[in-house]
Amino acid sequence: MNKSFLAAIPILEKIEKAGYEAYFVGGAVRDHLLNRDIHDVDIATSATPQEIKDIFPSTVDVGIEHGTILVLYKGQGFEVTTFRSEADYEDFRRPKSVTFIRSLQEDLRRRDFTMNAMAMDREGRLIDPYNGKSAINHQVIETVGEASERFKEDALRIMRAIRFVSQLGFSLDENTEREMANSSYLLQRISIERITAEMTKLLNGIYREKALKIAIETKLYSYWPTLFNDKNIIQSILALKTKSLNELELWILCTYIVNQPLSNELLKKWKLPSKKIQFILRALSYLKWRREYEWTHYDYYRAGKEISTVVERVYQTSLNQDISKIETNIEKIFMRMPILSRSDLNISGEDLLKWCNKQAGPWVKEVIESVEKAVINKEIINEAAEIKRWVKSCHLP
Ligand code: ATP
Ligand code: MG
Repeated sequence: MNKSFLAAIPILEKIEKAGYEAYFVGGAVRDHLLNRDIHDVDIATSATPQEIKDIFPSTVDVGIEHGTILVLYKGQGFEVTTFRSEADYEDFRRPKSVTFIRSLQEDLRRRDFTMNAMAMDREGRLIDPYNGKSAINHQVIETVGEASERFKEDALRIMRAIRFVSQLGFSLDENTEREMANSSYLLQRISIERITAEMTKLLNGIYREKALKIAIETKLYSYWPTLFNDKNIIQSILALKTKSLNELELWILCTYIVNQPLSNELLKKWKLPSKKIQFILRALSYLKWRREYEWTHYDYYRAGKEISTVVERVYQTSLNQDISKIETNIEKIFMRMPILSRSDLNISGEDLLKWCNKQAGPWVKEVIESVEKAVINKEIINEAAEIKRWVKSCHLP
């Protein structure tokens, strides 16, 4: 058994000793069968949250209203969730009420896809009432129960289905796919944050081309907030060799192709983190510049290694060029740079004031910039005496 499971076995044992059932459930069991890395191990139990708190001395109520308690054990945290059924969905996302139950089978039934509806006991035995293992063997994503009902209950499942396609490369079961298309309008009721979280996973997935094609076929894309909500844009992206681009680069490429003056507003509609938006906008302004110019060493220096690399990778992708060497080439350029930032210069503004005997003013910044440029272009070396000579000879304003 994987070591993430092994670390959690004492938790299962203690719960069982107290007279309740406890199992590994959900994504970890699926990923275990798929031989994929396991990140978080979820535990499901017949014990109520209060019963779990009585068993373990150290717990945190992380989601007690849904039945989830974080059990702290030997310096690690384990999420333990009480078996539950979800009766009547409000607003296509939240169940009206959560009922704690004692039946594992019932708990598994409320789960989204058969591959996610398996449990495993502490000896590694699989409890698989909905044939999740067979779905995994056949690489199929299918809902537990009738797809149309399951998507009506919670339309986020539509996004989850397509991001699993992107992560696992699985196909959608025919009925599941048809009902995704029929129910895709319900995505309008789902909060943007939840959609974006799934979209991020989708764009990170190695089978994202397959997922994006399904987004077109099911017309799911038309309920995405902006940018990717246009079939032609998705098709333009699919026509390019984007395999090695990461998720951030895909947002940049998409925004670049969409080419709207108000990119900021469009990115905000996806509620991307503002740091990410700032990075994308900065990359976009360099991309526009890149259409007209070639990089000089000073341009690389000004942009910095990260932006230069991303911009060049996205730019060359947009021209359908090979991008495999860009990162190494730019890395080499930066390795050979005499300075990487202004603070690496062997002089400061104070030195300039001393040497020139002039009042401080905007000229200081201008001279520093020309020193940086001269150093980067290897017209002078980064040494105080040489810089002083150079500045005094002809570069004072
Ligand atoms: P990941 O590897 O991305 O974490 P996951 O399947 O573990 O994938 P989680 O969001 O961590 O996804 O959810 C854990 C489990 O909870 C799922 O495997 C599934 O059984 C159930 N689940 C999660 N979201 C839903 C949902 N919207 N509807 C029904 N069941 C869900
Ligand atoms: Mg998970």
